[in-house]
Amino acid sequence: MADLADHLRKWGLKTYEVDGWKTRKSGSRFDPHAITVHHTAGGRNGNAPSLNIVTHGRPGIPGPLSQFVLGRDGTVFVVGQGRANHGGKGGPIAGVPADSANTYAWGIEAENTGRGEPWSPVQLNAYYRLCAALCAYSGITPDAVFAHKEWAPSRKVDPAGIYMVDFRERVKEAFAAGPAQVVHVELTEDGDPVLREGDEGRKVVDIQNALGLPESEQDGDFGPKTKAAVILFQQYHKIVGDPRGVVGLYTWRALRFKVHGREVLKPKPATVGEKIVNAVQKAAGQWTKDDLRKLQSHLNLNPDGVYGWGTHIVFSALVEKKKGNKKETMNLQRIVSAVPDGIWGPNSERAWKDKIVKLQRVLKVPTTGVVDKVTLEAYRKFYAHFHKK
Ligand SMILES: [Zn+2]
Repeated sequence: MADLADHLRKWGLKTYEVDGWKTRKSGSRFDPHAITVHHTAGGRNGNAPSLNIVTHGRPGIPGPLSQFVLGRDGTVFVVGQGRANHGGKGGPIAGVPADSANTYAWGIEAENTGRGEPWSPVQLNAYYRLCAALCAYSGITPDAVFAHKEWAPSRKVDPAGIYMVDFRERVKEAFAAGPAQVVHVELTEDGDPVLREGDEGRKVVDIQNALGLPESEQDGDFGPKTKAAVILFQQYHKIVGDPRGVVGLYTWRALRFKVHGREVLKPKPATVGEKIVNAVQKAAGQWTKDDLRKLQSHLNLNPDGVYGWGTHIVFSALVEKKKGNKKETMNLQRIVSAVPDGIWGPNSERAWKDKIVKLQRVLKVPTTGVVDKVTLEAYRKFYAHFHKK
C-alpha cells in the first residue's frame, strides 16, 4: 500500500509524521471502511496541545487514541496507521457494527476545546480534505464519514459546532475535486482562493473579467497589469481589508456583489454547484440583523439579534433535524413548537417543515420545506455572516 503520509501530502495537506507512527497501534485488527470525526476537548493554547495524549493515551485508555490529530492551523499529525481507541460504545452506523468503530473506522481528533471555540476556515478546510484523502486511500465513500456524536449521541457531543450534513457535503466536494485540484491552500472565509501576483488559473480569469480587463488580457495569469487593475479597483471602492493588489476576502466580496447596481462577475455557463453558490451569494447580500431577529422569534428564542452559542445550538438542531434519541426528539419538538412527547409523528414532521419554510423565507431561498443543498449552503453562509459579530 502507498505510504499514508505521502498520500496525504499529495492531497495538499500539511503533514507531520509523529515518531513511530508506522507501527503504532492498539490491538491488531484494523479494516477501515468509515471515518469518525472528533474534537480533542484539549487546551485552549497552541496548535496541537492534545498530540501527546492522543499518541500515548491516558490512564485507563492506552494510546493511540486516534490515527490523526488535526492542528488548529490545518496540519495533519499522523500518529498511527493501525487500530486506535477513539470510538467506544455506539453505533451501528454507516455499515460499522455496534461498538466496533475502533476496528472499522479511522479516527480524527481535531484540536478544539469543544466549548464554543470557533473553527477556523483553514482547519475546517483541512478537515474536509483529510476525510476526502482517507476516502480515496481506503476506498471509503464520503457518506461513511460520521461524527462521534452520531456514533454515541447519548454521551458524546463532538465535534461540537459542526453540522454533519453540511460536513459530508464538503467532504464529497473535496473528494470529487481530487488531489490535483488542491492548489490554493490559503482561502478566504467565504472559501475563495486568495489571489496575488504570480497565481494562475480559472479563478484569475474570473477576476480579470470582473475587473473589466480587455478580453485579450483575460489570460488567467495574474501579472503586473492584473495587479494594477486590482489596486485601482481597491482604491475606487475604498477596500482596505486586503493587502494592496491582493484579492482577499473583501476584494472578492466587492467583485462578486453588486457594484453600480449590477453583478460584476458575469455568470458563465454554471454547474449545479455554482448555481447554488450564486443563488446563495445573491441572497446573502440582502441579509440584515432583522432577519436574524425574525428567525430567533420564529424559534421561540430571545430575538436579540446576536448569533450566540444558544442560538447556534437551536438553529443547528432544526437544520440537522436532530432526533437521535428521545431527549433530542423532545428538544427538537420544542424548537418546532410541537408537543414534546418524544415520538416523532406526522404532526411533528409538519411542524418541522413549517419552521424550515420560515427559515427559508428568512434566508431568501426557495421555500421547498426540505433542507436541500441551497438551504444548507445559505444556512452555512448565514452562520458565517452573523456568528462572529
Ligand atoms: Zn470523540
